[in-house]
Amino acid sequence: MTEKFADTGSPTIPRNYGRVSPFVKLTPDYPAMLFVLDNVHQENPKISHTRWTHWIPQAQRMGGQRGLSVTCPGPQICPICISNQKLKNAYGSKSRQHKEYINTSKRFLTNVFDITEVKKCTCEAIYFPMEDGEFLETCADETCSTDLLELKPEPLNRIRVLEGSRTLFDHFNELQKSVVDADDESIDLREYPIKFSVSGYGRQKTITPISMPQLMSKYKRPTEEDFTSPDGTVQEHYDLARFTAPFAPDEINHLKEGGGIRDIFAAREAATVDELEEEEIPF
Ligand SMILES: [Zn+2]
Ligand SMILES: [Zn+2]
Repeated sequence: MTEKFADTGSPTIPRNYGRVSPFVKLTPDYPAMLFVLDNVHQENPKISHTRWTHWIPQAQRMGGQRGLSVTCPGPQICPICISNQKLKNAYGSKSRQHKEYINTSKRFLTNVFDITEVKKCTCEAIYFPMEDGEFLETCADETCSTDLLELKPEPLNRIRVLEGSRTLFDHFNELQKSVVDADDESIDLREYPIKFSVSGYGRQKTITPISMPQLMSKYKRPTEEDFTSPDGTVQEHYDLARFTAPFAPDEINHLKEGGGIRDIFAAREAATVDELEEEEIPF
């Protein structure tokens, strides 16, 4: 544990019932339905965002969680790339089998509009279907405990981030080419909802995006209006480069030692406060 990070150990975070994370999680439990918002077609590589990631299995261990995927800050400064290079120098092609070797993978990202059917509780908790495809019967928030059976599922209607492999984004290219209208003209991928059929878990996971142009009359390509809540707040698209900004090398080392991201954010906040206090000294 480096000194910079308070040795508090991250508390175990309970499973976040009722919360919606920015990243879409595609699971075999239920088919997600999304509109792709960015132009992910590969002829526009500048528009579709990519990043190199490392899966750090030791990260968050001290907080009882296992592993975290991080953006590589660049092979020159990244502690993982540097350590991998040392292993390569020592073991050559066998380095990949070394237990300390950490894989690197290229990931593709896009903003999406998630219209998966969920149940929205009166307390603002949001419930996706569970593993059996059914919804929870009662709100998990003890102060609420609303009977969810009474509520009808409705589209989530939230801008989120979809991250996937090249294979997944190649599927998008296929859809872009193959989905055509009555005049045999190709329909822009962003015009229709896409359903994600998922089977298997972990390395066995396969994701099949299914175009749903037949639903275009029911679900229109989302516009500014769809991003605006009744109270006037507007959902912004994610700035994907900022959203996936890499951790600093010492922060990555902290994760490799089993630390959690909460300690990192706490340390950053403390550093910002120090800076501000210094600035306030009136000389
Ligand atoms: Zn790296
Ligand atoms: Zn509730």
